[in-house]
Amino acid sequence: MINFSSVTKQYFSDTALDQVSFTIEKGDFVFLVGPTGSGKTTIFRLIIRDLLPSQGEITIGTIDVVNLPKKKIRELRRNVGVVFQDLKLLLDRTVLENVMLPLQLSGVNDSEAESKAEELLVSVGLSSMLNKFPLQLSGGERQRVAIARALVFDPEVILADEPTGNLDMQTSLQILDLLDSINKRGTTIFMATHNDRIIDTTKKRVLVMERGKVKEDRRKKVEEKKHDEGKQEKKETKAHQEEPISLETLSKKEQKHDDAS
Ligand code: ADP
Ligand code: MG
Repeated sequence: MINFSSVTKQYFSDTALDQVSFTIEKGDFVFLVGPTGSGKTTIFRLIIRDLLPSQGEITIGTIDVVNLPKKKIRELRRNVGVVFQDLKLLLDRTVLENVMLPLQLSGVNDSEAESKAEELLVSVGLSSMLNKFPLQLSGGERQRVAIARALVFDPEVILADEPTGNLDMQTSLQILDLLDSINKRGTTIFMATHNDRIIDTTKKRVLVMERGKVKEDRRKKVEEKKHDEGKQEKKETKAHQEEPISLETLSKKEQKHDDAS
């Protein structure tokens, strides 16, 4: 779905990305981690053709992002919803209006835009906030608005740039749950974060950036783990089926247990 092949990005003399390669499959949920300045936002900006790489190839599905004609960029951006680090919500518009706006700008009529926006806002848990302004919401609620807005064109991919950056742990986990449920409906999610606890509580693939390079790709470990866990489960069911525990063995086991304690 997302493919980077030896992508280098230089800002004048600074190298923000240095020969970065990775592939994210359709339907995956992948974390992008690394300290501030390691290149996470640059990766996202390249994906939506907000920047061009200095070198390398980027494809999203069948789209060759680097050579995409200008008039097709809008199509790309409909297919890739972004939750920006600074959210980019319009403070003088209501929650509902914020989510309606991209639809209206693309030519959808007001009533259709309104019903789509309302449906999305309900789905992210904001049904009672439609007519509030962004500054009347909590940080977590504002994130939800940005997530709803990123979903307006039913994108195949969502990029979320540190969506839990300023949130407490409980709220962060709720945002993660929301993104997880969006992922379960088939949307590929690529999320930048430097919240280790969030990464640890899930067993998702992690791309680790350090000074513009992919330092580690923890996909394999996760997959191997899943594989091993699968085997373990099978063994357990098998053992259970093959040796129905009789009352006798059970009492022996209990005895052993008692001895041990
Ligand atoms: P992250 O999102 O991981 O914090 P960024 O992708 O924003 O990292 O930045 C990577 C590097 O590129 C940093 O050294 C940063 O200073 C530099 N950089 C980012 N954007 C620009 C820009 N517009 N002009 C010049 N340098 C930039
Ligand atoms: Mg960033």
